[in-house]
Amino acid sequence: MKFFTSLLAAAAITVAGFAAPAVAQEKGMVGISMPTKTSTRWISDGETMEKLFKDAGYTPDLQFADDDIPNQLAQIENMVTKGAKVLVIGAIDGTTLSDILQKAADAGVKVIAYDRLIRDSGNVDYYATFDNFQVGVLQATSLVEGLKLDSATEPKNVELFGGSPDDNNAFFFYDGAMSVLQPLIDSGKIVVKSGQMGMDQVGTLRWDGAVAQARMENLLSSAYTDAKVDGVLSPYDGLSIGIISALKGVGYGSGDMPMPIVTGQDAELPSVKSILAGEQYSTVFKDTRELAKVTVNMVNAIMDGKEPEVNDTKTYENGVKVVPSYLLKPVSVDKSNAKDVLVGSGYYTEDQLNN
Ligand code: BGC
Repeated sequence: MKFFTSLLAAAAITVAGFAAPAVAQEKGMVGISMPTKTSTRWISDGETMEKLFKDAGYTPDLQFADDDIPNQLAQIENMVTKGAKVLVIGAIDGTTLSDILQKAADAGVKVIAYDRLIRDSGNVDYYATFDNFQVGVLQATSLVEGLKLDSATEPKNVELFGGSPDDNNAFFFYDGAMSVLQPLIDSGKIVVKSGQMGMDQVGTLRWDGAVAQARMENLLSSAYTDAKVDGVLSPYDGLSIGIISALKGVGYGSGDMPMPIVTGQDAELPSVKSILAGEQYSTVFKDTRELAKVTVNMVNAIMDGKEPEVNDTKTYENGVKVVPSYLLKPVSVDKSNAKDVLVGSGYYTEDQLNN
């Protein structure tokens, strides 16, 4: 038995020995560093890219960093050591990568910031993302629509949530949303009873749903003992789940306390189901398959010595340079178009939404 096992092991080594370099020699290794697995969007981003890179003849090295910064740094360092030609990075904290990116640049490795801008480094070659300001605009527009502000005779009580302050996107989402909400706050149509506004007060470190739930619970017990909350600006489905849970905890969503209008982002399955069930009001769909494609095209161009296609060379100043970017279009999704958009595009099957 032992003999056979070692024969098998030897065979495996031989096969691996022949197989691995054959692929690697073709187009080389691409390191894909994703921030976390706690949100399904990042899993699907990573896995879609892994497949596309394989199909295109690269050797992808896909790693998830468990929202732990030292972990992400170690994973990226390892990719550089293993000889990656290009790094595709969805940063946990966009400001922590300067040193490792210097090492990457010294080794001739190109870097693409994936979805989240990498800040404070000149060694970021391109940025593939969605129109992040527009995401916020869509969230606030849907909130206003859900509140039926046009026909409302009384002001509506709204609370604001922001994303993680170490993620550049969070500021774009918030600013986009406030471009719609601030005029309504100024004119008194929307009231933020807690008075908590600005990313320093409404940010949610690491996009953590439990943190959002705790903050919503606090808001409810401090600012809403004699009034009802009508809407909550939430920048991400994972936060919306926590927020809705806090709201349900004090009776919203039953009897004479309708569920407030709660927004979201990413069209994650549990939240899309919640939208169809009439709890969460809306989300923003960002087709991660498209983002993966754009990124693979960028890598192909880089490897062919060409300029990758970009459509924005002004917006994403990272503290050192303006990073040439490709922005995809986000789509607002609520109960009225969820199935058309999400099943229609093949992102989910009808069965996934119904079960
Ligand atoms: C992404 C969002 C996501 C959030 C939390 C942001 O950087 O752009 O799509 O909801 O991170 O994962």
